[in-house]
Amino acid sequence: MENNFDINNLVRENVKEMKPYSSARDEFEDFDTADMIFLDANENPFENGVNRYPDPQQISVKEVLAKQRNVKTNQILLGNGSDEVLDLLFRAFCEPKTDNVITLPPTYGMYGVLANINAVENKEILLSEDFQPQIEKIMEAVDKNTKIIFLCSPNNPTGNSFSDESVAYLLQNFKGLVVIDEAYIDFSKKDSWINELDEYPNLVITQTLSKAYGLAGIRLGICYASAEVISVLNKIKPPYNVNELTQKRALERLDNPEKIKSEIDSIIEQRDELLKVLLDVKFIEKIYPTEANFILVKVDDANKIYDELIAKGIVIRNRTTQPLCDNCLRLTVGTEQENMKLIVALKEIN
Ligand SMILES: *Cc1c(COP(=O)(O)O)cnc(C)c1O
Repeated sequence: MENNFDINNLVRENVKEMKPYSSARDEFEDFDTADMIFLDANENPFENGVNRYPDPQQISVKEVLAKQRNVKTNQILLGNGSDEVLDLLFRAFCEPKTDNVITLPPTYGMYGVLANINAVENKEILLSEDFQPQIEKIMEAVDKNTKIIFLCSPNNPTGNSFSDESVAYLLQNFKGLVVIDEAYIDFSKKDSWINELDEYPNLVITQTLSKAYGLAGIRLGICYASAEVISVLNKIKPPYNVNELTQKRALERLDNPEKIKSEIDSIIEQRDELLKVLLDVKFIEKIYPTEANFILVKVDDANKIYDELIAKGIVIRNRTTQPLCDNCLRLTVGTEQENMKLIVALKEIN
């Protein structure tokens, strides 16, 4: 594996050959900036906190993440949400109308949407009945133009993690990139695959501050990969893709890991409580195991329950049209009060 993985075989020709846009702030970086006068970027000189362009490399945020996750800053790329990171992966590695990717429904809808936008074929290989990757079928679907396999673990909307054996098998046997979307990893007992980055040159991990970290509104997505993969993504990313307010807010939040940890613990506690009381709701036929901050349940009539909850002022996600998710609803874990109201409403429908 180590021997025959070559990033150059994966990068699109136009990306290989292009010269990246060089911003004013990219070209100037080598001095102590405190006393400098900046007349290079056509900014308004009057200070208001955000009159200057943000750091295109977001180095302060990366340094904190690198320390917390035990990686190097050159193994990190930040994006405007993980959605931007995923889009950059398509644009860097998938030639439109030629290459393909593999996704495993039921899963996060953006992989398919991004494949469409980028005119890249999306080969969908259903998960098994217990929502695990079907390794043999996946390997059969791989051809010479398959660039990326997207694994979402813990998976949205099913809530489970994929087995370590399956993930390791794909990392060892697939010659393209294996992207593991770990948007929900902080709610799982499993370790992040970040610890294996040095082991697998084709491993790409995406995480986000949108879920466990409580910052969906600032849009900050994170990609961890080899320095080689990151440098390709860096080459094509929009110069100022993460704005100054986002960088500031992320730094503030990351500076208080105890607070984040205690919120996560509380959400997990609430989730486990919710799992117990849902057992008493008669029309719930199945509660799927979860390692995320949501619970997938199978009910007798998903559309009916969904509408009745809306009428009671509670919005959940109806997943009944997704493959393997007939009559399934996805419930996000809220505060204790919100969850109590959900339970009361469900029992009234009962
Ligand atoms: C919510 C979610 C994301 C988050 O995307 P952002 O753009 O970072 O907000 C990514 N992947 C999955 C599977 C998700 O459910």
